[in-house]
Formats: sequence, C-alpha cells, structure tokens
Amino acid sequence: MVRGMERKPTKEAVDVQGVLRAVLRRQEPSQPHLDYFVRELVAGRIPNYQAAAFLAGVFCRGLSDRATVHLTEAMANSGKRLDLSAVHGRTVDKHSTGGISDGTSFIIAPLVTLFGLKVPMMSGRGLGHTGGTLDKLEAIPGFRCSLSEPEVVAQLNTIGLAIFAQTEDMVPADKMLYDLRNATQTVASIPLIAASIMSKKLAEGAQGLVLNVTTGSGAFMERPAEARQLARAMVAIARGAGCHASAVVSSMDQPLAPYVGNALEIRQAIAVLRGETRGYERFIEVSIELAAQLLVHGGVYAATGIADAKAALRARLAAGAAFAPFCAMVAAQGGDVMAVVQPERLPKAERRIAVNALQNSYVGRIDARLIGEASLLLGAGRTTVGAPIDPAVGLHVHKFVGDAVHAGEPLVTLHVNDGEGLAAAKSAIGRAYTLTDRRPRPPRLIYEVMT
Ligand code: URA
Repeated sequence: MVRGMERKPTKEAVDVQGVLRAVLRRQEPSQPHLDYFVRELVAGRIPNYQAAAFLAGVFCRGLSDRATVHLTEAMANSGKRLDLSAVHGRTVDKHSTGGISDGTSFIIAPLVTLFGLKVPMMSGRGLGHTGGTLDKLEAIPGFRCSLSEPEVVAQLNTIGLAIFAQTEDMVPADKMLYDLRNATQTVASIPLIAASIMSKKLAEGAQGLVLNVTTGSGAFMERPAEARQLARAMVAIARGAGCHASAVVSSMDQPLAPYVGNALEIRQAIAVLRGETRGYERFIEVSIELAAQLLVHGGVYAATGIADAKAALRARLAAGAAFAPFCAMVAAQGGDVMAVVQPERLPKAERRIAVNALQNSYVGRIDARLIGEASLLLGAGRTTVGAPIDPAVGLHVHKFVGDAVHAGEPLVTLHVNDGEGLAAAKSAIGRAYTLTDRRPRPPRLIYEVMT
C-alpha cells in the first residue's frame, strides 16, 4: 500500500497551484488534476521549480494508490504507445527492478515463446552499479536494439520475441520527471518509482506482466518491506490498467549468478540456455519462478497449475530448447549468430586478475552493490547517460554466501582491459566480502510471490 492511502479527494482547482496544494496538503488529486499536470509538463508550460515542488510533495507526503494509478496512466499517455494489436497470440513481459548479474530476461523471453507466448520486451540501459539488458545484448557484434513498431510486430509474429529500446517519443513525461528526480533527491519514492516503471510498461502494452522486485545490498530497495510495498503498488497499477500482473520479491543480497559484465553475462545466458545448471542454480530458480508466472498470465496454465508450469519450463530449459529462439532473435536483430553459437568469439578482456582470500573461512556476507561498482570501475557500466562502456570487462564471482574458502583461493577474478580503475575495483571486492569463522545460513532467495 502506498504511504498515505487514506486521504480526502481534493476540491482544489485543476491548475498547477491546485495540484501542488493538493499534493502538499496530503489530499488526493483526481485524474483530471494529474492528466492536466502531466500534459502541461510535457508541453513545457510547467517550469522546473513547480515540477520539483510536485516531486518533493509526493516524496514527502506520499500518494494514494488511486492517484498513483492516475499519474501512471497520464505518464503512459504522454507520448506514443506501442500498438501490438496486430500480434497473433498473447503478449507477456517481465520487468526487474535491477541487480547484479540479473540477466533473467535472456532466459525467460526465449523460454516462454516455446509455449506459444509472444514477448515484447522493451528494456533499458545500465546506469550506476546495475547493468542494462540492452548493453549486454550489444556485446553481441551487430546486435541492434532500436526497432520500429512494425519491426517489433513482425518479429513477434515470426519468432515470438523482441528485446528492444524505448523510442524517444514514448513516455516523455517519465524522462522529464526522472531527470528532475535525479537532480532533486526525490528518486527513492515508492509512488514515483512505481509510476515511472509502470508508465513504460503500460505504454508497451503487453497483456501480462511479471515484476521481479529485488531487495538487498545490490538492489534499489534494500529492505524487503520496501520491496513488498513497491511490488504491491506496481501490481495494483497494472491490474488497474487491465493487465494480468504479479510480482516476485527476490533477494539481491549477492550477485544472482557468477558472471558480471556485458559479454560475460551473455556467455552465461548462452550456457544456461544450452542446458547447463551447475553454478547457476539461483539464477535458474528465479528465472523459472518468473517464467511460470508468465505462463499463467498468458493462459497456458491455470494459477493452480504453477507447479506443472515450473516442471515444464525446467524440462525445456534443461533440454536446451530455448537456445534456438534466442539465436533467432539475435539473427533478426542483426547480431552475429556465430558469436552466440561459439561464445568464445564474443569480446574478451586482455587480462584476468584474481582477488584471493587471505584466510581459511566462510563467506558470511557479500555487499552486492560493491560487486556492481567493481564491474563499473573496470568499465563495464556507465556513471553518466550515454557514456561508452567496454563490453569485454567484468567479474567472475567464485564464492557466494555460505561457501567455504581457503587462504589463497580466488574470491573473484577480474576481467580487465586497460587497467584503469583496477586498484579501486580490487579494493571494492575486498570491502564487498565479509569472511567469518562459522558457516552462515544461506540467505533467502525468494521472499514472496504476489499473485
Ligand atoms: N527504474 C525506472 O524506470 N524508474 C525508476 O524510478 C526507478 C527504476
């Protein structure tokens, strides 16, 4: 439930001052208020200081569930919406709030197409310590993320999946508000995050949606209670808009899988798509949980058949059946399929440098954010929008929470090119690991499935 749920519908006028008064006085702005505000903002008729006051008002006073739905819809309608009406079959999508080695999209999208579902997956680029799906795919030579609407529709009708970038003319309100949130310290607000993410999902227009809301040291929402609140708010928005939706609240207290970095995560996805499981158990478990939700939203299984859905998905994944649709997507989007079939052809870093344990011990804790930052320092990510990234660099994480380690054994291997940022990356890895004398309990992986 979004903070400050019970509040009176405002009687303020539908103008900027009325919207600001309503928000700042904890009243509920109506749909016309929020439609007006977003429309005027995108038209350039609301100055930044008033938009910033609106954001600060929502940040400090919260927003009701109903007003959050209205804000999201107004934002989704602020630009072009994808028209998927010519797609034959049910469309489903998955969104993750981000993390480290969080490449479940590469598994889920091709896997659910094997059950007849269509997956239009509009994705983003990485910023800060978390990687971006599009950056990872662009590690495949030639891969093109900019697709036109007819290309998306044609690709869905032929091979069933497309992973592509949002176009400039979609959801301009989110872009404007996100930049202002960044500049005014108002990013970490559940209604604002929910509206931002869901406005893009509504504009994309898939009929079913599963949200992976991550929590822990490598996630946006560090505390499970906050992640649950965000998950609830987003599911409410999706359902309010007529989309079948559910959420999985999962742990990002350590990297989800062993490889962090763009080409490295593509190689990892290829291994899993070809049926490898060893070392990828947690990555596969989260992927199967999310994919099973999509089979339910797509009407392939009833909600009561979720165990059967998971068994069927596991069997297909273990048989390597999802690799073919992944290759078909790479080919359709201009990527070099040979680099996927023979992943040793993907970009590779020049040097590998191990960071070793100094004592016999157990891994007690990993600060996943620092692991992401180490990868960023090596050049795998970006700190400013549009900055270049190095597709080859990143990390191989050998030890996870609960693992025994011997002095001199590698905790992490760094994949390095020019050496810039190497010392800082090593230091981040050193700080990321807490080693203990006693084996700790492995952390929970899935906190809740909100259906
Ligand atoms: N991702 C988004 O798209 N928006 C947010 O506000 C946070 C994460």
